Amino acid sequence: MDTKNSGFDTKLIHAGDFHEEFGAAVVPIYQTSTFAFKNAQHGADLFAGKEKGYIYTRIGNPTIDALENKLAQLENGYRGVVMASGMSAVTTLYAALLKQGDHMISTGAVYGPSRAVMESIFADFGVESTYTDTSLIENIEKAIKPNTKLLYLETPANPTIQLTDIKKASELAHKHNILVCVDNTFSSPYLQRPLDLGADIVLHSLTKFINGHADIVGGALIAKDEQVYAKLRKTMTYMGGNMDPHQAYMVIRGVKTLSLRIEKAQENAQKIAEYLENHPKIEWIKYPGLKSFAQHELAKEQMSGFGSMISFGVKGGLKGGKILMDNVKLALLAVSLGGVETLIQHPASMTHAALSKEERLQADITDELVRFSVGIENVDDIIADLDQALEKI
Ligand SMILES: *Cc1c(COP(=O)(O)O)cnc(C)c1O
Repeated sequence: MDTKNSGFDTKLIHAGDFHEEFGAAVVPIYQTSTFAFKNAQHGADLFAGKEKGYIYTRIGNPTIDALENKLAQLENGYRGVVMASGMSAVTTLYAALLKQGDHMISTGAVYGPSRAVMESIFADFGVESTYTDTSLIENIEKAIKPNTKLLYLETPANPTIQLTDIKKASELAHKHNILVCVDNTFSSPYLQRPLDLGADIVLHSLTKFINGHADIVGGALIAKDEQVYAKLRKTMTYMGGNMDPHQAYMVIRGVKTLSLRIEKAQENAQKIAEYLENHPKIEWIKYPGLKSFAQHELAKEQMSGFGSMISFGVKGGLKGGKILMDNVKLALLAVSLGGVETLIQHPASMTHAALSKEERLQADITDELVRFSVGIENVDDIIADLDQALEKI
């Protein structure tokens, strides 16, 4: 069915679908690496682009195509490219749009590996970068150079939950012929659609909200126009970070309930944030849905809801965080986010424990910081779990 003019929830279920000869109700998994040509001429026509069809799964596959078309419709883009991981999407983006001597500006608190791959690998190829607090537009303006080609934003950024004004940042960038990509992993297209706000490309770690069930790793880039899409497609096809058809099937299945999952998770998150805000064992809390959140107004403007990621500081610093980690029973101690299950993470004692305190502070990781990805369990159970664990501090 043509879903171009359908509502978002209808797109979640039907966009990108195709129906094969047996009438399967869902997109089947085309678990094949290659596709047979009908004859020599057919092979020649496919390679010349004179006929539509499939050649080889790194280049294209029906199951993968279905997902790419669905994501493009959800983000109101021209077309998407899906990849083996979110990081594959990041490296494909950089490789497609930046060359030796080019410069990129990005959010200081961007996802760690997105910055690390730029500063430790793309820098070796002669790509320059400036990381700055993009929540202040004047910082972006100051960082612009004649060779700036890409503005790579993450909003909300992690773990600071800092927002960048996508509309204002895109207007500024476009005045200087700079392309804008937004990592929309934390919001998903259900809450925020960067292309509608002026961005040129949207990036996703599909691993998180879009798949939503913590059972695959995947990434996507969605371009607003055909030219940028063609560059992304070519780079992915040559560099080979393609998604597997089975993975694509899993994401198509997972994304269908995106609206339902996010509605429930953010309803839970709002209640949990309000509970934590008044808790004596909590030093500070950042959640866009709280009136005390510094950028609450911007969140209301560019997002249609506040999501389910909460950052908070626990009393007692490193020790307090460890006690909390060792006493929660429902929340899983794990990295990642955006799944149906509640996850808790204390970077100073877990993911960033091997770094010195100074190194941690450079990455905005303070000793008391706890990251909480709210799931869709009963909210009373999540609060009771936190309550008994905080009691032990
Ligand atoms: C997880 C994540 C990524 C990287 O995605 P992977 O699927 O883990 O490779 C990129 N950006 C953000 C904001 C993320 O949370």
